[in-house]
Amino acid sequence: MTTPVIAIHGGAGTITRASLSAEDEARYHQALSDIVAAGQAVLNAGGSALEAVTEAVRLLEDCPLFNAGHGAVYTSEGKHELDACVMNGADLSSGAVACVTKLRNPILAARTVMEKSEHVLLVGPAAEAFAARHGAVTVEPAYFHTDARHEQWQRVRGQSRAMLDHDASSFAFAEKAAEPKEPIDPDNKFGTVGAVALDQFGNLAAATSTGGITNKQPGRVGDSPIIGAGCYANNATVAVSATGTGEAFMRTAACYDIGARMAYAGQSLEEASRAVVFETLPKVGGRGGVIAIDRHGNLALPFNTEGMYRAWGCGELAPVTAIYAAPA
Ligand code: ASP
Repeated sequence: MTTPVIAIHGGAGTITRASLSAEDEARYHQALSDIVAAGQAVLNAGGSALEAVTEAVRLLEDCPLFNAGHGAVYTSEGKHELDACVMNGADLSSGAVACVTKLRNPILAARTVMEKSEHVLLVGPAAEAFAARHGAVTVEPAYFHTDARHEQWQRVRGQSRAMLDHDASSFAFAEKAAEPKEPIDPDNKFGTVGAVALDQFGNLAAATSTGGITNKQPGRVGDSPIIGAGCYANNATVAVSATGTGEAFMRTAACYDIGARMAYAGQSLEEASRAVVFETLPKVGGRGGVIAIDRHGNLALPFNTEGMYRAWGCGELAPVTAIYAAPA
């Protein structure tokens, strides 16, 4: 029997100590800790890695602190368009939804696509109708609203750029973006979510869910629902979930590349994930990070930004949470 391990993230970006109050910081640590503990409970009760990552991401979607589900960012038209993906490393089965606007929990819809359809990715209203036919909970757009996200959108709307919801200074992916003068929103402290897990049977799984980037063009789909870009799991190598400038993660097939480096070049989890995050991604302006677990239960959580909301839990041990580069 393998000792089960789970890790989660809530986004990476410019999260300086100065922009987070002590109370805010404590809320993030608590939310991350509670959600990892819930994932550990699934794994310790004999649940699968797939069940654990689905449950962890469902809880992250329901938490307004993070940019997924309730608390998702706004598009340039003032709407919410959500993307999610889940992958089972045991058989490479996967499911994803993109550009959905009515599903309370996109990650559950992604799982439904994986288990109830012969496809991998469904988008827009057809994805919603499919998920609803299989019992998905639908909500009014107002459900996704939070004042913080709305104010954040107000600060950038009208400008021809989009930004990571938790990162005021990343414009590498913006279409013909003007040079940022000042961080637009130094108070930004939210992020895309993800989970990776190894269960006691040796299975790996990964899940990622997001509202995308603030002020994004309607119809824009990022890396999160794209297998190999923002989410990947293969029992032979690794489970990975990414957060950051999605276009760069797509162009480099970042999550898949970590597994490929391990499979074909014999790199360790640490070597492979650091190479992608610190070498491959920056070459195309990619900022962000990944959480990754290999089949032996090793964990890597590299990021090339100031911070990444993250937490992990091993067996019955208490969850560990961190935000900044050096665990706070
Ligand atoms: N990767 C996400 C996207 O590009 C954004 C994020 O991680 O915050 O949609």
